[in-house]
Order: sequence, then C-alpha cells, then structure tokens
Amino acid sequence: MKRNARGDGHYTCILCNESFGFFNHNAHECHGCSKFVCNKCGVDTINQQNETIWFCKICSEMTEILKKSGASYYEVKQQLESIHHSM
Ligand SMILES: [Zn+2]
Ligand SMILES: [Zn+2]
Repeated sequence: MKRNARGDGHYTCILCNESFGFFNHNAHECHGCSKFVCNKCGVDTINQQNETIWFCKICSEMTEILKKSGASYYEVKQQLESIHHSM
C-alpha cells in the first residue's frame, strides 16, 4: 500500500494536497486519523448510529484489513493513528 501523504491534512487534503481554503465543503475529517481529506480522497460510510462518517483512503483500506483480521474498534483506531504518525 502506498502511503503518499502530500498535504498537511488541515489546510490541504492529506493525500492529494488540494487546498481547501475558507468555507470549502469538500473537506471531510477522517474518522480514523483526524486529518482532512477532499471528496476524491475520502470514502463515506455509515456508522452504527446511522451517521455518515468519512475515512481517508488509507484508513478505509486499513479498516477493512483490520476488521477481517478480527481487531476490535479500539485496536483499529490505534493502528490507524500509528500509521499516520509514522508517515
Ligand atoms: Zn484529495
Ligand atoms: Zn485517515
């Protein structure tokens, strides 16, 4: 898996470095790593409370892999945070 983070995840998309600017509604906070991604680099999903949550593509892929390995929610979240911190 490529870990090509180019943006800062705050003012620009963590993955493609698209600038969000002010009042940009294409920015979504990743539920896994708390970085911001644009529409193209994020994946929206529905959680157990039926709310729409967003993941960046890296966290989305990792979540699928970890869920299949039987990891708990907290283990998944810890893994996602450690991945992004090491980028
Ligand atoms: Zn992007
Ligand atoms: Zn993420």
